[in-house]
Parts: sequence; structure tokens; C-alpha cells
Amino acid sequence: MPIRVYNTMTRKKEELVPRELGKISMYVCGPTVYNYIHIGNARTFLNFDMIRRYLLYRGYEVEFIQNVTDVDDKIINKANEEGVSPEVLADTYREAFELDMADLGVMPPTMAPQATEHIDDMLEVISCLVDKGYAYESEGDVYFEVEKFADYGKLSGRNLDEQQHTLASGPEDRKRGPWDFALWKAAKPGEPSWSSPWGPGRPGWHIECSTMSTKYLGESFDIHGGGLDLVFPHHENELAQAEACTGKPFVRYWIHSGMLNIDMEKMSKSLGNIRPLREVLIENDAQVIRMLMLGTHYRSPLNFSDDSLADAGASLERVTNCAFNLEDALSRAAVGGDGKKTERELELSKKLEGLKDEFVGHMDDDFNSAAALGVLFDVVRETNTYVGEVTSGGEPRLKVSLLECKEVLDDMFGALGLFQTAWGTTSVPGEEPARAADGGPSRDQLVDLLLEVRQAARDMKSFELADRIRDSLTELGVRVEDVPGGYRWRVER
Ligand code: AMP
Ligand code: ZN
Repeated sequence: MPIRVYNTMTRKKEELVPRELGKISMYVCGPTVYNYIHIGNARTFLNFDMIRRYLLYRGYEVEFIQNVTDVDDKIINKANEEGVSPEVLADTYREAFELDMADLGVMPPTMAPQATEHIDDMLEVISCLVDKGYAYESEGDVYFEVEKFADYGKLSGRNLDEQQHTLASGPEDRKRGPWDFALWKAAKPGEPSWSSPWGPGRPGWHIECSTMSTKYLGESFDIHGGGLDLVFPHHENELAQAEACTGKPFVRYWIHSGMLNIDMEKMSKSLGNIRPLREVLIENDAQVIRMLMLGTHYRSPLNFSDDSLADAGASLERVTNCAFNLEDALSRAAVGGDGKKTERELELSKKLEGLKDEFVGHMDDDFNSAAALGVLFDVVRETNTYVGEVTSGGEPRLKVSLLECKEVLDDMFGALGLFQTAWGTTSVPGEEPARAADGGPSRDQLVDLLLEVRQAARDMKSFELADRIRDSLTELGVRVEDVPGGYRWRVER
């Protein structure tokens, strides 16, 4: 069965047929780096991480480009407020963004091109638009003339004649038409600028995405994504710029992620309800946040509240408990025997197969992670029942059925990006952690040693001692988590 995706352009679900067999080229609009990102931004980035991971799970090679907007009015204003240069400010928040993404377990993009490193490429596209008569210079600014691009409005479905324009993309007196938008902005004193055929200035926002996406993915690439608020004007303008210049379709599938609201209200400065991701991460594990996001279809609005976080936390606990009990049962199960499954185990295998198909069916249907999570919980239920039977039976069972449960769970975790976080510090088997600066044992070595002792205690069924070691580490701010296949730890911020 092919994957079907909802294409904003056609307003229907379509079969995903990539430009090149087995390969997906994907561009997702990245952050404007002038502040720490909020939980709404995080939703969009998590959703596209989920989509990317699922495509990988289904065997596609995925090229994932995500830009960084590092020159923009908001950056310049904030830099002035903080008394630093726009470059320094942008660098600071770009690094903060990368750390936030790592904390959330979002895979790094294949490439993260920065706008300021692609000024020449943008100038080429702007020149192409001027040469072809789609753009004009006006007092050092360059504008895209919307009137000239007959298809303008085809992505967002807007009929501009019927609409009051609210766009403020340049001084009205410099523009020919109200909808015209800036490709290049003439330099103002104290702002960063680059030289151009139209005098010194800086690029408009929309041009960077058309330029960098086609530079790295070519014309007519597969998927372009972003939050729903970007459909108009950002994506409509990206499309106009790219198609006017190349004369070819820009993107095959437009995917937009729904907005996150806080306690049923839009997040906004004026309401004072903006929740920075970093703050949410202090009290909540990244897995809880991912679980919460997965629980709502990526296109639907999501209501973020303390209650929804608590629900997600409870759901996650059901999964981690199951994984823990399964590991425990596995460590006691016998390898050998005659290898024959009982009737019950044959039935379990069949059920698991069916659930796996159901899971894939939901994800294939426009990445319906909410329905897929429902199936994951069915697997958790089946696993709990079987592990319960094995444990209460008291006799060591064959490993094979327990391993089957584990495989199905791990498979689903991978497809959804659950428990795939790159933890701050993880003991990697066979890799010796670095020693401390004074040549003595480092913190990492000592924590690893304690966890080895804890593992040994568990192997000897000294669960009380094992728990004491974990609890003491927690008190010291070292969080230990049992995960399928072992344990991980990190220092809590
Ligand atoms: P920005 O840095 O403002 O361009 O936003 C980065 C990404 O976050 C874009 O894809 C936006 O569409 C998305 N975004 C912004 N606000 C929200 C929100 N409240 N819910 C979901 N996504 C959002
Ligand atoms: Zn963009």
C-alpha cells in the first residue's frame, strides 16, 4: 500500500510518488533565530521529525533541508535591544535551537543552510525575476510584482481581488501593487547589508526559502513543509518566486502542520501565554512532550495544557512500565527448549502481526500518529498480558515470544521517534568515557560504574539495592531510565 499525504495545494489526500524512486527530497522552513523557540514551534518541528522518521521506516532515503533565518527585522530589533550585533544574537539563538532539537530527540537536518551564507544565490534568483519581468526595482528595494504571476493564490486559495490587503511588505509608495512583496530591501543605517546590483541592502524573508530549497534539492522537489500559518503569505510567495524564475512546478506535495494553542487560546505576546520549550523541558521529559504531540493528528489543532501534559505523562508511563517488565521477563526467560510455540504463543504472534499491519495502515494514511499510538497501546496490552502469564506461571518461558513483543514495540518506537533521544551522556558499550581533567576518574566513569553495579544487583534479583542506587542518583540530579535494551542516564538541567 502506498503512503497517502494531504496536499495543501490540491486539498486532498494523494498517493506519495516521489520524483526519484525510493528517495524523498524534503524542505521544512526553519526558525528565525531571535529568541528561544516556544512549544508551538516545537510541535511543528516534532511533526516533521515524525514524518521524516516514518518515511525512513518505510525504506525511503530522505534528504531533509531546514533553513535558518539569520537576518530579519526581528533579529535586528532584538539585537538593538540587547546591545549586541545581529550576527552574535543570531548565532546564540541558532545554537540554542540546535540544543533544543537535540533535547527533543529531533534528528538533525541533512543540511541547515543559513540565509546570510546564501546572499549571492538569492541575488541570482532576484536577477532572474527582474530579467523575466516579474520583479522591479524601486528606490533601492526590489519587489515581486504579484499581478504578473497569473497563478498567484493557487496554494492558499486566496482571491486577492476579494480581499483587503493587510500586507506590510514595504512602503506602499514604492510598490506598484498592494500585494507586491520585497525581494530585496535597501540598506538602512546601522543594519547589516550586502552589495547588490540595486545598491546595498538585505534580502526579504521569502526569497531565502525558494533559493535554498531549489539550490539543494533541485527544481520540483518532493515535500515542502511548515506550520499552517506559513501557507500565506510565505509559501504562496516562495512558490511565486520559484515558479516564475524556473518555469517549472516548485513542489510536489505541500504539507502543513496544525497550530498549537495554550489552554484553548492562541499563543501570543499580548496574552502573555507564550511557553518557551526550555521551560516546559525543565519539568517534563522530552518523551512526554513527544507523546503529547503524537496523540493529535499533525494537521489538527492541538490544545496544550497542564492536563494534556499529565495525560501524556501517564500514557508514557504505561509504555515504559511495559518495556521494563518485558526486559525483566526477558532476562529470566530460557533460550532453549524445543523451540516450539504453544497455541497461545502462536495466537500472540498472529495478533502482533495484525497490529503491525494496522499501525502501518494508520501511518500510511497521512501519518495518522494518533491512531497509530492507539495500536501501540494495543501491543502494550498484549505484551502486558503475556508477560503477566509468563511471570505468574513461575517457569522460565522461551524467549522467542517475548522477543517478538520487543521487536514490534521497538519497531513502533522507531517509526514514531519515541525513546530515540540522543541523551546527554550515555554509556556506549565498549567505549571508555573520558577521564577527568586531573587524570582521575570522571563523573561519567563513576556514574557508569554505579549503573553497572545496579545492573549486577538486578541480575542477582537484589531489586531493593538496584532501586536504592537509582533513587540516590536521582537525588543527585542524575536521571536513570530503563529503556528497551538497557538503561540510559543524563544529568537533569
Ligand atoms: P518562526 O520561527 O516563527 O518562523 O516559526 C518556526 C515554525 O514554527 C514555523 O513552521 C511556524 O509555522 C511554526 N509555528 C509558529 N507558531 C506555531 C504554533 N503556535 N503552533 C504550531 N506551529 C507554530
Ligand atoms: Zn520558508
